[in-house]
Amino acid sequence: MRVHLSTSVLVAALTLWLPQSVGARQADPAAVEAESTQRASDLAAARAVFSANLRAIQERNREDYLGTYLNSDRLVRTGPSGFELGWEDLAAGAAPTGSDDWPAELLARDLRLQWLQAGLVYGTYRYRVSFDGLEWVEGISERLFTKTEGGWKIAVTTAFGVNDDTPSPPVALVGATVHDGLGGPPIQDALLILRGGKIESVGPRARNAVPLGLDVIELTGKHIIPGLIDTHVHYSQTGWVDGRPDAADVTEEYPYAAAMALNQAHPDRFHRAFLSCGVTSVFDVGGYPWTRTLPGATELSREAPHVVAAGPLIATFDPGLNLLDRRQMIFPSDEDEARAMVRSHAASGSQAIKFWFVVRSDDEVAVKAPLLMAVGEEAKAVGLPLIVHATRLAAAKVAVAAGASLLVHSVENRAVDDEFVGACVAAGTSLSPTLTVVGGYAQVNLSEISDEVRSHLAYVHPSVAERVLKTVDLPLRGDPKLIRASFDARAEATGAIMAANLVALHRAGVPIVLGTDAGNPLTLHGPSVFPELEAMEAAGLSPSEVLVSATSKAAAALGRAGDLGRIEPGFVADLVVLTEDPSKSSSAMRSVTHVVRAGTVHRRDQLVWD
Ligand SMILES: [Zn+2]
Repeated sequence: MRVHLSTSVLVAALTLWLPQSVGARQADPAAVEAESTQRASDLAAARAVFSANLRAIQERNREDYLGTYLNSDRLVRTGPSGFELGWEDLAAGAAPTGSDDWPAELLARDLRLQWLQAGLVYGTYRYRVSFDGLEWVEGISERLFTKTEGGWKIAVTTAFGVNDDTPSPPVALVGATVHDGLGGPPIQDALLILRGGKIESVGPRARNAVPLGLDVIELTGKHIIPGLIDTHVHYSQTGWVDGRPDAADVTEEYPYAAAMALNQAHPDRFHRAFLSCGVTSVFDVGGYPWTRTLPGATELSREAPHVVAAGPLIATFDPGLNLLDRRQMIFPSDEDEARAMVRSHAASGSQAIKFWFVVRSDDEVAVKAPLLMAVGEEAKAVGLPLIVHATRLAAAKVAVAAGASLLVHSVENRAVDDEFVGACVAAGTSLSPTLTVVGGYAQVNLSEISDEVRSHLAYVHPSVAERVLKTVDLPLRGDPKLIRASFDARAEATGAIMAANLVALHRAGVPIVLGTDAGNPLTLHGPSVFPELEAMEAAGLSPSEVLVSATSKAAAALGRAGDLGRIEPGFVADLVVLTEDPSKSSSAMRSVTHVVRAGTVHRRDQLVWD
């Protein structure tokens, strides 16, 4: 809206300059050639002033900066706050050379110049500017360049911020090896064109030309994959025990209500951590009611992953993770109440129904099964997918019978059987194995932080890192040797079952999808995907299969098979650039250099806190 206003104001201003530009075109060939030469030299001159202007800002050079503007009281500057006139006024407000009042970084893209008449050129470009290197403002800026006795100068300048729904400018990514997310043969030395936030085209560079005027990012030697998709996260957990007092009670120093309030006030902390690790979409599979606002807030954002959110969990077990005035877990007393809960979720904007089927025995499974069956039937009636937490085979069987589209953990207690595998295949159920989340609980119980988790602290918000480091101060829960032995025994017993089940389901055609359970203690939003991806490979998937599980298959589990998780024309331009080859090893996913969200290219260093 603001941009339209400014354009109309500018067009009105320009008409004063444009009395005679049209007629000269039908003149003799010599005149046509003269105009063409004039046009080329004017455009080059305007481009040079534009570059000098940007360079002066980047170099924080006040004198050079002011020198690019028309030294006249007719200089016009305009932005959201209105017109400002005159060079003196500009000079009065310009920051001193070298001071911190200049932007930390200014990126200018998509410069388009239009020759108007001899000595007059109009231009637009898209800017991204940051004053602290972390918070970025994106906008569109115009320039009117004019020839004066003292050389070419900027006579009119405008700058207006754009909203998230204004797509990023088009860009060509050239030279990288592209992995499509479906497991197809990689395209070497590719040309990938992004426009309007979508993938416009992809193919070998040799067969496609970069359209004229498009900004080019050279990525020779690198690899491009679709953005990673984590199908199991919780924005209502913190990554530490302040969000899980049932794991270790730190509420005296870190009240649970305060931790939950911080999560709600600043989901941006997790958004950025996800992006910095190449995660461009997540499934929030259970949390406080406010998490239902995340999908709308993030869908068009350049600074956040897509979020699909389930809202409060319908649960069979109460670990005490509710606030007095609101609940992330609700406990149906009978089937009618369970159905009513599903209808309430649908009316309140939940995009899925999460059933937390925590049971201690197969007898309990049988007792509680009717609740899950009722929830599944009602979810189907209101048109919402059903997601189920089930780690016992008997529970997982009920989940699939109830119509679950996604099982968010492995079956841990025994090997899956043909009946279960067949039921998953028939129902089209996906499974996210969450192989590594239990390791965080082991560290909490041992009051220690693994080197792996320590390496994750580089990607998370300082408020999260600071708390995680306090894990070593937690009181020990007994003899560390015994605790370690107990976790090791469990890992050995369940790890082999989980790996075998993953492979059995995968071979049968059940989609295995990336899921971390991020938000649980020491399973941090974002970087926890790295060990999880490696664990999927160690369990028996090939690196290429892991990549498909983390992209196109995960997109399908989110209900977004049609526009996320693949590098294909028409899909959302969510991409990750890696230095290592992800078809050779899943560890390559750690080598992120750029993350593209809806066509906006972020360098990784622009996404991490210093
Ligand atoms: Zn979970």
